[in-house]
Amino acid sequence: MESDVIVIGGGMAGALAALKASEEGRDVLLIRKGHGATAMSSGVIDVAGPNDFLPHDEWETLPTIEDRLKDMLRTNPLHPYSILAGAGGVDRLNSMLRDACNFAIEKVQPLCFRGSHERSMALPTVVGTAKFCAYAPASLASGDLAEMRRANLLLVGLEGLPYFRPRICKRSLSEYSSQHQPEAISKIDFVEIEMPGRGGAIRATPFGVAGLFDEPGVCEEFTKSLARRIDPGVTHVGLPPILGLNDHSKAFQIIDRELEPKVFELISPGYSVPGHRLQAALDKALGDGGVRVVTTGVAKVECDGRLIKNLVLEGVKSGRTATAGSYVVATGKFSSGGLVADDYPREPLFGLPLFSDGKRVDERLLRYLLDRDASKRQPFLSCGIHVDASLRPLDPFGEPAYDNLYAAGSIIGEYDYVADKCGLGAAALTGCAAGEEAAAQVVSR
Ligand SMILES: Cc1cc2nc3c(=O)[nH]c(=O)nc-3n(C[C@H](O)[C@H](O)[C@H](O)COP(=O)(O)OP(=O)(O)OC[C@H]3O[C@@H](n4cnc5c(N)ncnc54)[C@H](O)[C@@H]3O)c2cc1C
Repeated sequence: MESDVIVIGGGMAGALAALKASEEGRDVLLIRKGHGATAMSSGVIDVAGPNDFLPHDEWETLPTIEDRLKDMLRTNPLHPYSILAGAGGVDRLNSMLRDACNFAIEKVQPLCFRGSHERSMALPTVVGTAKFCAYAPASLASGDLAEMRRANLLLVGLEGLPYFRPRICKRSLSEYSSQHQPEAISKIDFVEIEMPGRGGAIRATPFGVAGLFDEPGVCEEFTKSLARRIDPGVTHVGLPPILGLNDHSKAFQIIDRELEPKVFELISPGYSVPGHRLQAALDKALGDGGVRVVTTGVAKVECDGRLIKNLVLEGVKSGRTATAGSYVVATGKFSSGGLVADDYPREPLFGLPLFSDGKRVDERLLRYLLDRDASKRQPFLSCGIHVDASLRPLDPFGEPAYDNLYAAGSIIGEYDYVADKCGLGAAALTGCAAGEEAAAQVVSR
């Protein structure tokens, strides 16, 4: 297999790198062994959210996205945001991030992402807290607590779906909103309604139920039975994230059109249906954008000095290779296989050195990267490779390790998506930038 550019990894970073390189007129091959953190995420794009989850008493005083970006640039020169901003500072970073997020949102258009680069939305979660993020699909964004004023909210559970307990959600969301945004909600009630369609016969997980909503007539039937349970005066209806798995926009349109109150889905902390939808929308964009996708792992890399020559692929046809003029590594972190956690953390494909907080960590036992105090920043989460301003991975001496390799996404270290609240935003930014660099610097084979 030959192409101009090969991208390894198909999450947010790899998909956007491939789509950018393809739009630059390059023939692009994307190799990925499966789905990673993008599919496991909550499906909303964090760019630079408030760095504490709960203790903001006054939401009016929450830092803006720009405040947080300035903060990151000031305190963390190794953050990929700082590296790409360079001397252009926050203005350059803001404009690059805006372009990258718009590019991502345009590529996953069926999810109708909403949001802004100015302030974070506060989206209610299934456990009755709020998650701050910059951009979210319309079905989640409609629950923005920062936009609500004296809402009369109905939380809806499904009988036989223990994953979402509307009674518990009601109790904690009442406490949470009265503490942080007392004007947002004046009343919360809940109901549990029957599972629609052949609901009794399926495995009652959010994925199973969301799959039901893709079937003809199910959303219509559910909407009718829900309409009967909505009292006059209800302004908002909150559901667990179950409105469709592969045909979500259709299900959401039906329910949004037929019911008078504003309907929204609650955020799930992880391994969620919206994360799956985001990954599926990226996969579709790759097909529509002319990117060839091969689903297998890259087992080994063959080089000639500082030039990558071939990738050796896993699988039955052992020894099968793929060759390109330039390469992007976007293989993610530990949960996706981009980094491996044996006793020592390591980057398995290119043997790149790993860092956290500016220090080399692939020579340190993994347990030293975990702080027992879970409320503290975990060095483990910001472990990754170092890159230069062109996103070329660096060797132990701080020099580009290869002439035709670029990196994108969470394999890059020195930021922690949990504390910095910038996971998919950083993946979008570095994905777009790496795709452009790789397309511009294709080395002749
Ligand atoms: C539970 C959870 C919830 C999260 N929630 C949010 C959120 O709400 N908002 C937010 O902004 N961020 C969130 N994040 C962070 C965010 O999901 C990640 O930062 C982001 O998805 C990283 O994208 P990526 O493309 O770099 O990597 P990934 O999405 O992990 O993709 C890595 C890809 O590389 C492939 N790969 C790995 N090794 C190989 C190999 N040898 N050969 C071929 N392919 C390979 C994998 O199969 C996969 O396709 C969350 C993360 C987690 C884990």
